[in-house]
Amino acid sequence: MTTGRVIGIDLGTTNSCVAIVEQGRPRVLANSAGYTTMPSIVAMTNKGERLVGHLAKRQAIVNATHTVYASKRLIGQRWDSPIVKRMQTVVPYKIISGPHNDARIEIYGHAYSAAEIGSVILAELRELAEEQLDETIKYAVITVPAYFNDAQRQATKDAGRMAGLEVLRILNEPTAAALAYGHGRQDEDEKCIAVYDLGGGTFDISILELKDGVFEVISTAGDTFLGGEDFDQRVIEWLIFGFAKANKLDLRREPMTMQRLKEAAEKARWDLSTIQETEVNLPFLITDNAGKTHNLQQTLTREKLVSLCDDLIQRSIKICQFALDSANLTPKHIDEVILVGGMTRMPRVQQAVTSFFGRTPSRNVHPDEVVALGAALQGASLMEQRNNVLLLDVTPHTLGIMIAGGFFQILIDKNTTVPCSRSHIFTTVKDYQTQVKILVLQGESFRAEENQLLGAFVLDGLRPAPRGEVEVEVKFSISADGIVSVAARDLETGQQQSIIVEASNHLTEEEIQRMIEENRDHALASKTSKEFLRQREIAEQDIEYVQRMKTKVQKIVGELPLGQDALRKANEIIERTHHAIAAEDLPQLISEIAALQRTRKIFHQLLEHAQKGA
Ligand code: AMP
Repeated sequence: MTTGRVIGIDLGTTNSCVAIVEQGRPRVLANSAGYTTMPSIVAMTNKGERLVGHLAKRQAIVNATHTVYASKRLIGQRWDSPIVKRMQTVVPYKIISGPHNDARIEIYGHAYSAAEIGSVILAELRELAEEQLDETIKYAVITVPAYFNDAQRQATKDAGRMAGLEVLRILNEPTAAALAYGHGRQDEDEKCIAVYDLGGGTFDISILELKDGVFEVISTAGDTFLGGEDFDQRVIEWLIFGFAKANKLDLRREPMTMQRLKEAAEKARWDLSTIQETEVNLPFLITDNAGKTHNLQQTLTREKLVSLCDDLIQRSIKICQFALDSANLTPKHIDEVILVGGMTRMPRVQQAVTSFFGRTPSRNVHPDEVVALGAALQGASLMEQRNNVLLLDVTPHTLGIMIAGGFFQILIDKNTTVPCSRSHIFTTVKDYQTQVKILVLQGESFRAEENQLLGAFVLDGLRPAPRGEVEVEVKFSISADGIVSVAARDLETGQQQSIIVEASNHLTEEEIQRMIEENRDHALASKTSKEFLRQREIAEQDIEYVQRMKTKVQKIVGELPLGQDALRKANEIIERTHHAIAAEDLPQLISEIAALQRTRKIFHQLLEHAQKGA
């Protein structure tokens, strides 16, 4: 039994926040200067002094190369990943390759992992809570973006451990926000909530259902590389370009100059959240080869800012549409929109969200504090073992294994409620095969190599027998933290092998390719047969075709009773086909394919009829 106080921590890309629950009410903790959020920044001075939060931020300009911000973007990432490559071009600190091909941050000759940097921030928040409450804190609930993969969640949990905390739960940020929003509203009617979270580094959208005090996430989507940092970058580029044009000087030469530009860009954006026009003023910004110093002075309007960044906002809206589509919902189904993250203070963001969902977002939550408050509520409920707040979260990615032919066999679909486990029986594909290698993958492609490899292990000692005779059960389990474990069991001998899926950053790209190659000799085949895969492909093509025709039918005969009837039936058939695919029900799938083909015929007739009539 765990007893004691638990803190809720929102470990943000830009800012972090800590909250507790007292007498059933959540509240955020302020530091001695009164700040309720702390910059997620860690710095080292040349005297070996470590600075965290506001102190680190204040000296960032003069110590740019040893001041680490946005480290959350590096957590759980491989050094050779595109995200890390991109980070290297925008941050002044040095990112190097670690011993396991992981991204490390070099400060004064020492290589720190992003989890270590995260742990420094977490430890600071733990100390803040200990000071405020005058007690030792052992437990925490830490939030992560819903779109974080397994490696990123593991690394965040490690960061908590390094900070001296036992992490009771890794919670999705939007789920935490909905929890805080729903606190004290248990008696309200059933509601469908959209949480739009645009922070410093990441964007997340989650659709949740709130009913009788139960929160169920029905769909999530996001982009781990979309946030305020990208907006800043647009403004910085605009300033650099303008300056280069006017002065023939490249500001990118100096880390300190870049740091000043970054601060000025962010400040200008903040100003433009309340006023229409602001001045970017940076005196003595750079000295040219002749020794002359140059100042930067530029007016930035709200309109210009929008034109620089509108595509970023539209990208977030597209992701909202995607989240709704995968839940089979439209904006009309959403009863409440909650805005989370500092970036939602930007008026253009609010406008875009309002116009997409067709409603004004809720003003009852504080965008910077709501996630930590939700984490604290979840912590308190775990601690008290209370059952009146039940949280059903979903897995953000599809998980499965590679099977013969290089196919991806799904075991757990994306948006499945966690905790969960699913198993599937496979058979050997070669005569006298005594070994199978399980490649655990996440992704959406039916081709294994297009998905991300999470881990691999071998099950040895199978009975040598003709192919198809030996059966192996593979079981996937996802804990409430979203951490995946996989087990394979020889059904004849009961022999078993399992792994907790570890960060894929222990593998290089070559190692991954090599494993995929090797696996071809030790593959498993799905017991659901090649026939199922073939029919699934036919069904998917038919669905796509019917979806396209639906748009035309809607336009031409959507108003007529005959047209409406055909459209309703088509939707039902598509849904049944999806179910048959998910349940791997081959007979059902074949019958739905026939129904889809009838639908195609009916649609053709309707369209032909309408054209003749016209
Ligand atoms: P978060 O990760 O939720 O702390 O959000 C931080 C991001 O919100 C940073 O990129 C900030 O620049 C941005 N932000 C904070 N306040 C404002 C504001 N008033 N106007 C525009 N952006 C803001």
